Order: sequence, then C-alpha cells, then structure tokens
Amino acid sequence: MEDKLVNILLVEDDSVDVMNVQRAFKKNNIQNPLFFAKNGLEALAMLRGTDNFVKINPSPQIILLDLNMPQMSGIEFLKELRKDKVLKAISVFVMTTSNNDRDRLDAYNLNVAGYILKPVSFEKFVTAVSILDSYWKLCEQP
Ligand SMILES: [Mg+2]
Repeated sequence: MEDKLVNILLVEDDSVDVMNVQRAFKKNNIQNPLFFAKNGLEALAMLRGTDNFVKINPSPQIILLDLNMPQMSGIEFLKELRKDKVLKAISVFVMTTSNNDRDRLDAYNLNVAGYILKPVSFEKFVTAVSILDSYWKLCEQP
C-alpha cells in the first residue's frame, strides 16, 4: 500500500515547544505536512477556514495539542472540536506538562487518542514522537 501522508496540526503557544516538535519530526524523518496554531481559537479557525484563516486542506487527521494556552485552552478546544459534526472524528494527542488528574480525566472524556507528558529531555521527546509516528502509520485513517 502506498503511504499517504496526512496533515498534522500542532496547537501550541510556546515557541520553544514548537521548535522541539519540528526538530523531533526532522530527527525521525517524519514527512507529514505540519501546520501550527498558537491556541484553540486559531486552531478552530484553521480547521474551519474562518476569521480570515485559510482552511487546511485536506483537513488534518491528527492534532497534537498543548493544554495551557491563552484565549482558548486545550480542553476548551477539545469540547468545541467534539461538538463539531465535521471535525469531531480527528485524532487528538495531548502533549502537555500538566500532570493534573483533572486535565487527564477531562481529556480522555473528550476522546483523546493519547495523553503524553512532555519529557524533560529532548532525546526522550524524539523517542516519544517516533512511537507516535509508528502508531499513526499503523492506523488506517477514515
Ligand atoms: Mg502552553
């Protein structure tokens, strides 16, 4: 079967974390197109093509989501996403520093595919991203 590379949307307000994801993608030779939004509101606008944002096309099948962000947090974003008839099936992986029970419970109740704590070292982060890459390559997309 021919590998089709799905679009991936990273929702992250911290520019250092954005850079780490980019570097980890490069290290793992992940070729999927990566799009960036800096909070939940911007992510929704990019998914819907509203507020003067160009709609990401085709729609991302995978979202990597930070939780602590200004304007619209990751959990608030998930609530909106799951209510949206068109967007609700997107796989979301939370990537956060929050080891908070409430956040974890809320995220899983909103059907995240995984809740990943940002590792302290870049090396470990590269490994984590490599595992994610294997996982989404293994899964058939809708
Ligand atoms: Mg943040």
